[in-house]
Amino acid sequence: MAKRKEKGHCSFCGRPEPETSILVSGIDSQICNFCIEQANLILKEEVSESFDIPKEQATLLKPIEIKSFLDKYVIGQENAKKVLSVAVYNHYKRIAQENDVNDVEIEKSNIILVGETGTGKTLLAQTISRMLHVPFAIADATVLTEAGYVGEDVESILTRLLQAADYNVAAAEKGIIFIDEIDKIARKSDNPSITRDVSGEGVQQALLKLLEGTAVNVAPQGGRKHPEQKMISVNTKNILFVAGGAFNGIDRLIASRLRTNVVGYSFSGLNDENIDRKHLLQYIAPSDLKKFGLIPEIVGRLPVLSYLEPLDKAALKRILTEPKNALTKQFEKLFGMDDIELKFDDDALDFIVDKSTEFKLGARGLRSLIETILVDAMFELPSKKRTKKLHVTREYAESKFGKASLAKLRAAV
Ligand code: ADP
Repeated sequence: MAKRKEKGHCSFCGRPEPETSILVSGIDSQICNFCIEQANLILKEEVSESFDIPKEQATLLKPIEIKSFLDKYVIGQENAKKVLSVAVYNHYKRIAQENDVNDVEIEKSNIILVGETGTGKTLLAQTISRMLHVPFAIADATVLTEAGYVGEDVESILTRLLQAADYNVAAAEKGIIFIDEIDKIARKSDNPSITRDVSGEGVQQALLKLLEGTAVNVAPQGGRKHPEQKMISVNTKNILFVAGGAFNGIDRLIASRLRTNVVGYSFSGLNDENIDRKHLLQYIAPSDLKKFGLIPEIVGRLPVLSYLEPLDKAALKRILTEPKNALTKQFEKLFGMDDIELKFDDDALDFIVDKSTEFKLGARGLRSLIETILVDAMFELPSKKRTKKLHVTREYAESKFGKASLAKLRAAV
């Protein structure tokens, strides 16, 4: 960046150079002292919003306080938030007592979350890591294979965590890893294959090593492309693993365990009158995960089990407006940076929720729907001198949505 000498104007607010005290130029734009100050304020606000608990205090939080932090970002999912808060609390207690060799050894409280895609499993794990200021990595179980097969070795998960920790090994060793789609590496119980089950059980065995806590040699650049790289040893003993999966069809297994019937009539289980057959996931037990095809050792290493409810319309609407970084707040901020006041009517929000539900786009679809509705405005308004307001009514949302291609929306989710 260089201080611009010749005459120009700020690319952000349009002020001519004589009205500024400094105009800093980038590759093909300039920014004035007023906008630098403004941007600095936004940055500070953003940082204090996302890290509103200082690092030193975060690991001292009690479960109720952890949950109220989660409440700011995650709508509903009371059971998962509660269970996760306790697990994280115990995790840090466990790390704290590590040095006491004579004490009872507390086992790690790795977590498994069961629930439809887009209900907040990743969001929960991510929010916890943000609260604790620890490195966070997401691994997709479907791309993992046993060593020696095409695909990613299980160790690659640790490469990602190391990268998230800026190669600070001590920080990585206290990080959080979210393993997505763990249900996709379930053993196919009806397929007792004679050949090796590359995508299923083998990967589970490889994962088990990490979950148990072991020193692993990790390739800092990942992959096998850099055979010359020096390996880094990472101990997974204090890494908190959170696994998530949709486990499609597991409700049937729960139902049969409860000796109830998914369709609803005639069952003879215990306490049958108390069973809420519409929400069977709440009765999930480790044995259901084993039946589904997770090996017992993996289930044993993920001792904390919780579930996420499907999101209904009311929850989707709350997601649009309530979380600290709710979508409507994010867009209001974006427009505000161009001095444009953005306002959504309540029934415009209902329309967005309806469309997301109608096309089964879930919570993930909300963002692409808003983007679709606002794209024209985001394109045109910043260049208009006089428009300082955008009022999104239901009619406005409908007219913009009408032009959108559903295929595109689906692809964006
Ligand atoms: P999953 O991991 O269950 O597939 P995600 O956590 O990735 O789902 O959710 C996708 C997006 O949907 C999140 O980034 C968030 O914006 C939104 N979302 C999903 N569930 C919730 C929730 N319960 N509260 C707030 N936002 C949510």
